[in-house]
Amino acid sequence: MELVRIDGCRRFVSSEVHKIISQEDAMNERIEVLRRLQSIDTQVKRLVGDKLYRGYDVQKKQHHIQQKKAELSKLGEEIKSVQKNVGSKELDLKSREAEINKLRLQMNQVKTNKEYNAIKTEIGGKEADKSVLEDAILGMMSQYEEIQQRYKSFEKEIEHEETQLKELQRQVETDMKTLETEINELKKKRDKYASMLDSDTLQQYNRLVSHKDAVAVVNVVNKVCQGCFMSVTAQILNQLMSGKDLTFCNSCGRILYLESGNEDVEEDVK
Ligand SMILES: [Zn+2]
Repeated sequence: MELVRIDGCRRFVSSEVHKIISQEDAMNERIEVLRRLQSIDTQVKRLVGDKLYRGYDVQKKQHHIQQKKAELSKLGEEIKSVQKNVGSKELDLKSREAEINKLRLQMNQVKTNKEYNAIKTEIGGKEADKSVLEDAILGMMSQYEEIQQRYKSFEKEIEHEETQLKELQRQVETDMKTLETEINELKKKRDKYASMLDSDTLQQYNRLVSHKDAVAVVNVVNKVCQGCFMSVTAQILNQLMSGKDLTFCNSCGRILYLESGNEDVEEDVK
């Protein structure tokens, strides 16, 4: 195999020459297939991530609504408690009124001024209690109105958010289906490329892809592995250029290749 050195040591093989070599050279073909597998696996990983995040969008919205519902039920409890307090104050008020009426009747039957004045003072005290209770009831009533208003507008907000959630769920369902289709298409392509490789190479690739953050095949640029960004040795570089065997990075263990030009190994999903 002949290598053409152009552009200093950055590019070792021109795109055209590489193309011809690729067709003739099984090693380069194997690297091409591995790069396509890598490209497919990278895309699948991204799409699986997208699917996950779309799912999170729904969960986030659901959680948000649940929180609001919890707040709403707290408001409901507050309303009940204010109602209860108003009820008990109203009872107090009624009993004060009954006591005052009773004292007034007693007043008509007293014989001395002293008794009369004592009852009058007692009535005065009860009247004062009554007015304190009335003020408290008025205060609680306006508090009740205010919470009631908040409750109603909160209820509307939740209703609105539930409509939004339904719309989001529809969108996410559609997106999920699209993503699923894309993933299945890519998996079919993956099977096609995987079948082009001998079982040893495929096993090595699969092992690397599952252990090395889903990146098993990497470029060498300026003698630097683009997987771990460590320099590769001259020996590794020579092995890469000779193109006889699969070459692995001595630092991270990934499969290495030399970038040959502008060719695009991206697999088109659509
Ligand atoms: Zn490396």
